[in-house]
Amino acid sequence: MNSTVRSDAADARAQAAEPALAPAPVPVLEVCGASRVFTRRSDLLERGLERLRLRRPPGAVHAVDRVDLQVGKGEVVGVVGESGCGKSTLGRMAVGLLEPTAGSIRWNGSEAQSLRGGDYKRAKLKIQMIFQNPYASLNPRMRARDIVADAARIHGLIPGSEDAFVDAQFRRVGLDPNLKERWPHQFSGGQRQRLGIARALSVAPDLLVCDEAVAALDVSIQAQILNLFLDLREQLGLSYLFISHDLGVVRHLSDRVVIMYLGRVVEQAPVAEVFARPNHPYTRVLLEEMPRIDPRNRQFATISGEIPSPLNPPSGCAFHPRCPKAMPRCREAQPVLRQVAPGHLSACHLNDVS
Ligand code: SF4
Repeated sequence: MNSTVRSDAADARAQAAEPALAPAPVPVLEVCGASRVFTRRSDLLERGLERLRLRRPPGAVHAVDRVDLQVGKGEVVGVVGESGCGKSTLGRMAVGLLEPTAGSIRWNGSEAQSLRGGDYKRAKLKIQMIFQNPYASLNPRMRARDIVADAARIHGLIPGSEDAFVDAQFRRVGLDPNLKERWPHQFSGGQRQRLGIARALSVAPDLLVCDEAVAALDVSIQAQILNLFLDLREQLGLSYLFISHDLGVVRHLSDRVVIMYLGRVVEQAPVAEVFARPNHPYTRVLLEEMPRIDPRNRQFATISGEIPSPLNPPSGCAFHPRCPKAMPRCREAQPVLRQVAPGHLSACHLNDVS
């Protein structure tokens, strides 16, 4: 799929990414030890059964567990992992759709949870989200022009004529402004995703959190949208948190890659380093699976075993039931994320063996 995505820009970034390991002075986004736990409330009958000790109370799901992450200005950070690894929950916390149950989220240096009123709204506008399903994320009762202009109108961000503003937003994402009176259902999937991007860009964000933003599109359209993301980065200095199950997509777009497994970061490194010298066994398995994956439906289904239930995570290293290198210690002690090379972090006991 990605053969048509410009490789020169990706190569240049990959080369530049290796020595550029120091974090940007003021990160656009900081995720500081953030966790998110989901608990389901028992209904009346269940509570009765629990009182009679005929049923256990529902357990808590640690969807995201003590994640640290930074995205600098103009940087693209890819977050990769199987379905259920917590990457979408992380994305939702990053844009303020979910509050962390522990830790914090900082936008341009300000802690999101401590911002109030207008300060919160202004800071939140700078972090926008692009969703997987471009049709479901667009209001079917709004014309395209209103979808694009609505948020900017509400926040007083349209400097002159609204028509000129909408036309400029359409052109910026490669849409013909003559289509602006259409309804969402009159656009193709790729055009709808462009509309979603135009809507996000209309409020002049610093960071786009893209949650599987090209996963629902045809392969050829995926490449076009990825090239649009690259162009927008060049033109606007945008930063991205790019969440995907597809290592191929992340490789072409990202400066740094974060690999998540069952709510935790297991490896983090510049993109060239991850592909040249993967450290964590999970990352190695993902990379080994890549060439065998049908590019039209890239999933990690061929990794042996299934991702464990976050309701009942394995002891020690959560990857140990599936890990080809598991040792007795892996069942008992949870490995910590530590540096294995400059800018390269990994959480595996193999790094402790000298
Ligand atoms: Fe595999 Fe053990 Fe490393 Fe976990 S800590 S990835 S089980 S070797």
